[in-house]
Amino acid sequence: MSEIVCSIVIPMYNEEEVIKETYNRLKEVMDQSSESYELLFVNDGSKDRSAQIIAELARTDKNIRLIDFSRNFGHQIAVTAGMDYARGQAVVIIDADLQDPPEVIPRMLEKWREGYDVVYGKRLKRQGETFFKKFTAYLFYRILGALTDDNIPKDTGDFRLIDRKVCDAMKKLNEKNRFLRGMINWVGFKQTAVEYIREERWAGETKYPLKKMLKLATDGIFSFSYKPLKLATYIGFLLSASGFFYLLYVLYQRLFTLNTQTGWASIIAVNLIFNGITLVILGILGEYVGRIYEEVKGRPLYIVKEVIGLEEDEEEN
Ligand code: UDP
Ligand code: MG
Repeated sequence: MSEIVCSIVIPMYNEEEVIKETYNRLKEVMDQSSESYELLFVNDGSKDRSAQIIAELARTDKNIRLIDFSRNFGHQIAVTAGMDYARGQAVVIIDADLQDPPEVIPRMLEKWREGYDVVYGKRLKRQGETFFKKFTAYLFYRILGALTDDNIPKDTGDFRLIDRKVCDAMKKLNEKNRFLRGMINWVGFKQTAVEYIREERWAGETKYPLKKMLKLATDGIFSFSYKPLKLATYIGFLLSASGFFYLLYVLYQRLFTLNTQTGWASIIAVNLIFNGITLVILGILGEYVGRIYEEVKGRPLYIVKEVIGLEEDEEEN
């Protein structure tokens, strides 16, 4: 179909401090590989000069493409847009902040030539990240593993190479709340890992504050497992059963012993616990109902403001 061998998808959100360096490093690595390639930057509604910097570079470098979103839609959506627009036979997804070293890409391409369809980067070590981030990530992958039946690879990010076949398959999954690593795992094909050391952010601050991390984690769990719903049923049964036995016990005390029931503190305690559990379960239901609502609305995943470097494609349409 296309003559482009490798598309590199780079989502960016307020990365003006690092994006030029990312471009230089990617260009150096890709020029060595002597394959035709495209660098597909997806600007996820940056408020800084990230998009302008890339647009300027695109004037002299014909391998650059830029998809400019109308606002911030989130990292997972930006990567999705990159996969939609990518034309290469292999598509590599990489962060803009140089935490995923571009020098790993040739190793991924090598595996791809050996016949693997998905080559994901497995982080051996994470440098320069807070204990909190590493700990929550560790916990998240363990909980996800316990709750889902698919074996989503642990300790991998979105840094990976996918074959054209996988990219096309992914386009058919149009769910709104996207957890790409789980989805890529779900589509199957021949998968393997390349190990690497995750480096420190080259410049700037993380664009994944706790709120976005929580969103990604809940998407991962609630979109890939309905076990939390079953949990509600189990807890419900367990509590009703214990309530029933407790009632029998109270009746026994009243009828056959001289102990009288005192104290309302215990009643308040029990009340609080049960109300808490009810609210948690309602919250779990809400997660799923909200997801259904998102799907029913049927909105597009993202809105593109401008596209640079893909003009021939536009004429075809
Ligand atoms: N990113 C994005 N949209 C967002 C948040 C982040 O496109 O709303 C990009 C960001 O520019 C970077 C990648 O997603 O290329 C990963 O983000 P970051 O490095 O801040 O996350 P961390 O490595 O701290 O988990
Ligand atoms: Mg980062």
